[in-house]
Amino acid sequence: MLKKFAIGAAGLATFVGGAALVVPQAEAAAETVPATVTVGEGYHLNVRSEANGDAAVRSMFPDQSVIELHCRTEGSSAEGPRGSSSNWYGVRGGGFVAGAWLDQEPEMTACGDSAAPMFGVTATGFGGSVNVREGASADSRALASVADGGRTEAECWVQGTSHTNDAGRTSDWWLRTAEGFMSEAFAELDATASSTLPICGEGGAPEQPAPEDPGAGEGEYPFHGQFHLPFANGTEVPVTQGPYGSFSHNNANNFHAVDLALPLGTPLLATGPGIIKVASDRGDGYGNTVYIDHGDNRCTQLAHMNSIGVSVGDRVQTGQYVGELGTTGQSTGPHLHWNIVACDGYVSLETPNTVEAGTNYVEGTSIVSQNPGA
Ligand SMILES: [Zn+2]
Repeated sequence: MLKKFAIGAAGLATFVGGAALVVPQAEAAAETVPATVTVGEGYHLNVRSEANGDAAVRSMFPDQSVIELHCRTEGSSAEGPRGSSSNWYGVRGGGFVAGAWLDQEPEMTACGDSAAPMFGVTATGFGGSVNVREGASADSRALASVADGGRTEAECWVQGTSHTNDAGRTSDWWLRTAEGFMSEAFAELDATASSTLPICGEGGAPEQPAPEDPGAGEGEYPFHGQFHLPFANGTEVPVTQGPYGSFSHNNANNFHAVDLALPLGTPLLATGPGIIKVASDRGDGYGNTVYIDHGDNRCTQLAHMNSIGVSVGDRVQTGQYVGELGTTGQSTGPHLHWNIVACDGYVSLETPNTVEAGTNYVEGTSIVSQNPGA
């Protein structure tokens, strides 16, 4: 899961020196040498939207994660294990981390003022190079290309014309890069970037994505009712760790989470109506994870899944099948890690308030599901 972050200086050299790369701006990329660093043992490292401890948490790296930084910002971090003063760093893939929680702080060039954070992208050209175009359309003039497997950086997502790649994957999105526009069907964003890359606004400025209107008759949205346990009606559901559990529910991304242990492959059902925001392994330790957007920046997180049965953009109703319980990612055995998090940064917001249990999940007890789904 961490390979994408371990590109290191060698990866960049390939990018800059790649014969098929005809991007004039490649010289600019060479000014910043990425550094591969490791998160200190026993620490979780928050990735924030800006280089200060009060900024929103966008994602989190577990301890010993290998991550790639692309520049240093000046400033002191919050009190950390290495003292109160350290630099903040721009993460290749987007966001900022405080250096105090790293094994070792790297020597790095300063981040320029220029900037919107950029997000790492790997070109997927199926053996050929990927075009970078003047506009977000396959009909637009090609300005440059990136070699298959080559790296570039994106600033935001552009909703564009549908485009299908050689493997049949269709994308409605384009990526705006420093050089032009690249079809998302031919690009793979770094794990952090895939969930945090903003949507380009009018005139090009990035803006936060707004939830889709699910339309009349598609269920309550935003949904502020009580949830149901995500298991078939009548299932007895053992609680193995409650909110604020000392084993792993002891940090900002996990405080309100609940762990429910059932056999591998147990069907998981939607806990309330919403829109599927994420249906993938983001490489952040949660394994295969579904996030259901209920509106007002509240998302149900269903983590460590064995398999996923929904796609991003699907509208789901309470009780609808979303996949199988599993033990993917950083997990000690088959269970569901269940949480209500901020859709825009995955910080733990609240313990799922259910018809069955309210917010009372006591370790060692069982709760019987009343989810209307089969
Ligand atoms: Zn958990």
